[in-house]
Amino acid sequence: MQVMLKECAWESLGDELVVVHDPREAYTLADPDGRIAALLDELARGPATAEQLSAALTARGVAVTGDDVRAGLAGLDSLGLVEDAAERLLGDPDADERHFSNLTFFGAFARLDRSRAEFVRRLRDSHVLVLGAGGGGSSLVQCLAGLGVGALTLVDRDDIAPRNFARQFLYRHADIGRSKVERAAEWVREYDPGIEVRSVDRWISGPDDLKDLTGDVHVIAGGLDGAPDANLWVNEAALRAGVPLVAGGMTRTQLIYFSVDPGSSACLRCDESDLRRPDGRTTAAVAQRLTRGLRLANGLTGPMAMQVGSLVAYEVMRYLTGVEPPRAAGARVVLDLLNGLVPVWQPFPRDPGCPACALARR
Ligand SMILES: [Zn+2]
Repeated sequence: MQVMLKECAWESLGDELVVVHDPREAYTLADPDGRIAALLDELARGPATAEQLSAALTARGVAVTGDDVRAGLAGLDSLGLVEDAAERLLGDPDADERHFSNLTFFGAFARLDRSRAEFVRRLRDSHVLVLGAGGGGSSLVQCLAGLGVGALTLVDRDDIAPRNFARQFLYRHADIGRSKVERAAEWVREYDPGIEVRSVDRWISGPDDLKDLTGDVHVIAGGLDGAPDANLWVNEAALRAGVPLVAGGMTRTQLIYFSVDPGSSACLRCDESDLRRPDGRTTAAVAQRLTRGLRLANGLTGPMAMQVGSLVAYEVMRYLTGVEPPRAAGARVVLDLLNGLVPVWQPFPRDPGCPACALARR
């Protein structure tokens, strides 16, 4: 493997070496004999194998063995300072240009055994089922398309109306009266013809309406409005299919997102177990039932919708790439604009007798 040094700067300070890669953090490494500095100097000349580095260091009078160099590279890799040179790009000039920023972003997470190209390939090989093409869904579709998710199935049953324009930036005035999912799919095709997109103009009125949509998807994202139980239907469909669910919404000034990792996290139905007890006369149960019955006018506006969509898209990306663990698995993450978006985690209580979790395949 040709090892490549990421953007780095370093300077010896007595017996130590100060190395900066991420502007947020400087590493101080013990380097009394200067061998790490010499290794960095050689890496800075360009990609090289461990054998080539060993030969180059020996030629300049630095006493190292092949094992020393491999140990040194492993140490630099543990700090995220090196990567596989051949896997910095996808190998197709058009795709590399299209994904320039995605590849650069994933560069921060690349290691010798997981490359930036691999993260992008995982996204391109993924299929996401997007439920709802309204406020949150509209920005979610744009974020997923930008990430280069290879296949999208968009589901909604609504037509574009003037009141959508505060927050649904997929749509134009000329589209008023058209089906949202059809126009959303058209937008995706215009944006990136390489993305496979399917529109399903369908009203979801129960879990059965989702059954034929979850077969080959990797994540279900977004949410349905219109019925109080709609999110539970989606929760059930995700658990039955064994694929993660990521969804979000807002309340007044709060942005909310959550995810369900089948077989691993608690689910939405677990969260409602208290409410579903036959004697549900606790204050919490009654309050929850009243809350669910509230018919609030949709106050989602552009800046809120964009953030909800992007929070959901980022969690979807975590699941699809494994770049980091999902942060909202089995929990509602609430960020309030009034307190400067300090996140509050509200874990779903785990219900061992949850009928929805029993559906999970793994
Ligand atoms: Zn559950």
